[in-house]
Amino acid sequence: MVKEAIKKLKPYIPEKTIAEIKQEQGLTKLVRLSANENAWGTSPKVAQAILDWGVKGANRYPDSEVTGLRQTIATGLNVSPEALVFGDGLDEIIQLLSRTLLSPGDEVILTQPTFSEYALHAEIEGAKMVDVPVDSNGVTNLDGMLAAITPATSMVWLCNPNNPTGTYVTHQAIAEFMAKVPQSVTVIVDEAYIDFVTAEKQASVVDLLTKFNNLVVLRTFSKAYGLANFRVGFAVVAPQLAKILQTVRLPYNLSTFAEIAAEAAYSDQQFVQTVVETVADERQKWLAFFKKLGVLYYPSQANFVFFKINNADALSQELLHQGYLVRTGLGPDWLRITVGQPTDNQIVQQLIWKFADKQ
Ligand SMILES: *Cc1c(COP(=O)(O)O)cnc(C)c1O
Repeated sequence: MVKEAIKKLKPYIPEKTIAEIKQEQGLTKLVRLSANENAWGTSPKVAQAILDWGVKGANRYPDSEVTGLRQTIATGLNVSPEALVFGDGLDEIIQLLSRTLLSPGDEVILTQPTFSEYALHAEIEGAKMVDVPVDSNGVTNLDGMLAAITPATSMVWLCNPNNPTGTYVTHQAIAEFMAKVPQSVTVIVDEAYIDFVTAEKQASVVDLLTKFNNLVVLRTFSKAYGLANFRVGFAVVAPQLAKILQTVRLPYNLSTFAEIAAEAAYSDQQFVQTVVETVADERQKWLAFFKKLGVLYYPSQANFVFFKINNADALSQELLHQGYLVRTGLGPDWLRITVGQPTDNQIVQQLIWKFADKQ
């Protein structure tokens, strides 16, 4: 018998492959600006590391503890190696946390809108979703989330910067929030886009883990590090919870390829820095563009911008015909566009301008 909770489930709709869409649309070129991937690729050090490793040990199971990468990241983030739990992308970590911490009837507090996978996995566990809408600037409403906490609350998801709004809350705001949240509630801060924050030097709340046992911080190699295809994400958690998560997760969830690629990517902070600076420049141009266009948009600190425009579906179709894929389906007349290479951004801005002019 299929679980009741699963019968009602709306599936996560993954990206189609670029080749598939090109064929469907008869396009020779397609630029995907719908998945918040890194338009600058990944560090050349990754290719070298993979070539050096070759297929040595392909017949052997990988290191279940991911010892090399664990040490590298523990040193980089100044946390204990035991505080890290690795996953097959953050996707797996989101599933793992839900599977481990949620029981049927538990309440899960979410920003509305936010990343859909939090609700997906909460639903599978039979938990109850409590949505707290963003404020008029698209910013996560921390006071609203605090007010939504009840004795049944099990976890709070804080995506920071938030996907799809791109907005972020400060380190200080999260510290004050944590001080008011009961110990029994786990607060998960998904920092998938934290590298792109330029408004504040120390935006990550990893340092707060020494103060709050009920805090979990998530990071991924899929965005600023440009490794989406290798599937590497991790949680930084209190050691007691780390131990429990380690027993629930699959034993060989990261291939050696993934580990080696992530280590090489992490060792090239110069690459990340360049990407982050270029994204910040281009993001600024996007925000200025939307301001000039006179449409509603949110002040992004991530590598994408969320905006509202009349006939958004028709616009997304028009852009697709011109070889640009943007994200639809996140809200009526809202579109999310990933910051791309400068020439692509310019072309798409011209197309949007022309489209809006004809309306
Ligand atoms: C992209 C994304 C993830 C998923 O990251 P993977 O490591 O590729 O699974 C997690 N959280 C948010 C908010 C994202 O946008």
